[in-house]
Amino acid sequence: MRIGVTGAAGFIGSHVCERLLARGHEVVGIDAFTRFYGRELKEANVAALRSAPGFELVELNVLDETGLAPALIGLDAVCHLAGRPGVRRGTTEVYAAGNVQTTAAVLGAAHSAGVRRVLLASSSSVYGRTDGRVPEHAPLRPLSEYGRSKRAAERLARVEAAALGIELVVLRYFTVYGPRQRPDMAFARFVDAALGGEPMRLLGDGRQVRDFTYVGDAAEATALALESGRDGATFNVAGGAPATLAEAFSLLAHELGRTPELERLPADGRDPRSTGADLTRARVELGWEPVTALPDGLALQAAHAAAAVG
Ligand code: NAD
Repeated sequence: MRIGVTGAAGFIGSHVCERLLARGHEVVGIDAFTRFYGRELKEANVAALRSAPGFELVELNVLDETGLAPALIGLDAVCHLAGRPGVRRGTTEVYAAGNVQTTAAVLGAAHSAGVRRVLLASSSSVYGRTDGRVPEHAPLRPLSEYGRSKRAAERLARVEAAALGIELVVLRYFTVYGPRQRPDMAFARFVDAALGGEPMRLLGDGRQVRDFTYVGDAAEATALALESGRDGATFNVAGGAPATLAEAFSLLAHELGRTPELERLPADGRDPRSTGADLTRARVELGWEPVTALPDGLALQAAHAAAAVG
């Protein structure tokens, strides 16, 4: 297949591009190198991809729907990962533009370009407060503006895709980690603080539970969903073995051989206490299984970060 990936220079996007190329697809990566975090990190994310056979990078803001459409001509599918992630660093308007308007623009441009299939990256944040392992049909009660914007993007995508005759697959990623993790995310901040000898600010008591997902597993699920995900389906994508933040930090500290001082702050009400995914649908329909255990994935993230600082 020839597949467009929006957000190709981002954390998950760069891994998805690599995985698609490894599976024999051609990839057109699209990214605006937004200033949410440093351009140098995104340049590093795509450094190897730039010279990879079958890969092409287009620097473009997907909100420019008329500019985007020509870049999508000839594609079999678009994987829409570009967005405004993170629950803490944006206003309602910023999240709406980053997650809802980009989704409308990608679907509109896909239609103009004759692309028949779109995958939308959503988030576990759409669920809000849950207990145990949540299935995809659970009610969506997001706690944050970010989660509400992802829910709105899903809803808009369903309506627009049906109206435009585009096949749609939605993935809900649960806290993704691994090499090149976004610098605002907890493990990346822990590693940066440990390697830099700085304290790390920690929200909450560390006992919050997350169904941490290794980025290689997330990329594999994304590739399978692009290739064979059922039109209209939504899939949870998670690591399958929820753990506390404190447990993960202790594994990371072991890998790094040091631990940063933790500056404890009150929990943020926009973060659920616990996330956990029912993965039955992805297992049955996509034949996908998360294969990277947390200690192994964290070892890869720590080694990558240590190598980057030299
Ligand atoms: P990221 O910030 O590393 O990557 C997003 C990329 O999209 C960036 O390179 C950015 O420059 C690009 N981008 C943003 N807006 C754009 C626009 N208008 N036009 C073109 N490019 C634009 O984030 P990530 O962690 O890789 O997340 C990727 C997607 O997955 C996002 O939609 C995010 O909401 C979703 N998600 C991520 C996680 C996670 O744990 N990282 C969990 C759930 C969902």
